Amino acid sequence: MFYQELKRRAFEANLQLAELGLAPLTWGNASEIDRELGVLAIKPSGVAYGDLRPQDMVVVDLEGRTVEGALRPSSDTPAHLEFYRGFSGVGGVVHTHSKYATAFAQAGRPIPCLGTTHADAFAGEVPVTRAMSPKEILTDYEMNSGRVMVEHFRKAGLLPDQVPGILLRSHAPFCFGPSAAAAVENADVLERVAEMAWVTLSLTPGIAALSGPLAERHFRRKHGAGAYYGQATRSGSDAPATPSGIRLKPA
Ligand SMILES: [Zn+2]
Repeated sequence: MFYQELKRRAFEANLQLAELGLAPLTWGNASEIDRELGVLAIKPSGVAYGDLRPQDMVVVDLEGRTVEGALRPSSDTPAHLEFYRGFSGVGGVVHTHSKYATAFAQAGRPIPCLGTTHADAFAGEVPVTRAMSPKEILTDYEMNSGRVMVEHFRKAGLLPDQVPGILLRSHAPFCFGPSAAAAVENADVLERVAEMAWVTLSLTPGIAALSGPLAERHFRRKHGAGAYYGQATRSGSDAPATPSGIRLKPA
């Protein structure tokens, strides 16, 4: 009962993943963290979306110990934990196997920014991680998957508020946001820009990525202090409502 609201939010994000077609079969999961309580709610492992109920969400602490729930948490929980531990501003994490984004991950290719649809949501390309070593795969695979993704952000100097998604090489995307709902929206945008990139590259192979003022202008319309896209919030803040809506600080 104590975690009812958190579980409801995680449940709705998982349901939305399925409704948007981003997680075929049971290939996806969403979680949301309550930073004050130090716990997150995540989808249980291997339960079909049609059978999922809010009370089935599993609540785990930042060490991955189950604190509430009868079912086993998603097998990807250790990867989610790495994002929450690595970036204090991340409030929701989503993993999908959406078709086009997964195809780029399988090809080991980042998704280049080829137009303003992409630039609105992601500052630059959506990166792909390095290959994992046999040792990383054979021991603590899911935790190491998360570590490799966080490592990429740190080494490349990327911030998750500017690039709210990454492709785990040979696997599929992970997206994040200030909430699970925002992370789902970023996963949806990621899939759409991945499809557009694929079509664009089919039409003009080798086309140069968008950069410079046009890309920057579009990202800045929706992110940061000078953002002006959308409506002012009801609280009176002049910060606009943005799709990714993220203000994150690295831990
Ligand atoms: Zn997966």
